[in-house]
Amino acid sequence: MARAARTSSRTSNSVPASDPVAEALALDRRLASIDSLEDRLLEIVRSVPGRVTFSTSLGIEDQAVLNAIAASRAKIDVFTLDTGRHFPETLDTLEASQNRYGIDIRVMFPDAREVEELVARDGIYGFRLAVENRKACCDVRKVRPLKRALEGAKGWVTGLRREQSVGRAHVPFASWDAEDALFKFNPMADWSLEKLEAYVAEHNVPVNPLHARGFPSIGCQPCTRAIKPGEDIRAGRWWWENEDGKECGLHNRPRQKEVAA
Ligand code: SF4
Repeated sequence: MARAARTSSRTSNSVPASDPVAEALALDRRLASIDSLEDRLLEIVRSVPGRVTFSTSLGIEDQAVLNAIAASRAKIDVFTLDTGRHFPETLDTLEASQNRYGIDIRVMFPDAREVEELVARDGIYGFRLAVENRKACCDVRKVRPLKRALEGAKGWVTGLRREQSVGRAHVPFASWDAEDALFKFNPMADWSLEKLEAYVAEHNVPVNPLHARGFPSIGCQPCTRAIKPGEDIRAGRWWWENEDGKECGLHNRPRQKEVAA
């Protein structure tokens, strides 16, 4: 991977293991005081004593984070989850991103046997029949590969923004994920859509062409549709379900495990 080595030496601000919840709160405040995305990423790497990894869905937020990783040369490895049900445009974005940035994006796949058992039990479109089926599919295709990708990491960077949905309205810049025993970072938590689009335009960041066709949030092909004007930006995800709990399990950990901003 052509990520570079601007791993600054750690100072007294580095995170000790003694009280990770308190450290997450301190990190959260520190990141809030830093303006640029690039500097926030460098601060994350400087503060976390161990591997920091970034999970990209290849959506516009994550493309901006990827650009910032490349520009800052922050030592952060990158992975994505190939569920087997992606739009072709998403895979094209993966290829374009690797070519543009020279970054090796590790592709995590679900366990083949688990997928076979899931489809044998629920059917190829079984996730539309019941919320439980849908969550089981997301678990096999997303959550379990995510867990494998996070193994051994001490920091996990995401592209979550508070504006994206009601459920994300309070995401902090930093929190302690007790379940995975790592710090979780949302360095663009406070970004507006306008700021994001301006950043992408300024840096000519490659984005999934589906965004321009009414898909502000892009997941698996059979579970994502374009939205109508005025709809919530995540309204096109699992549109047949109620709004409550429309997450795939990647980011809906219990609040008590996190430190709010
Ligand atoms: S988004 Fe749909 S196809 Fe993708 S893992 Fe979840 S239920 Fe399965």
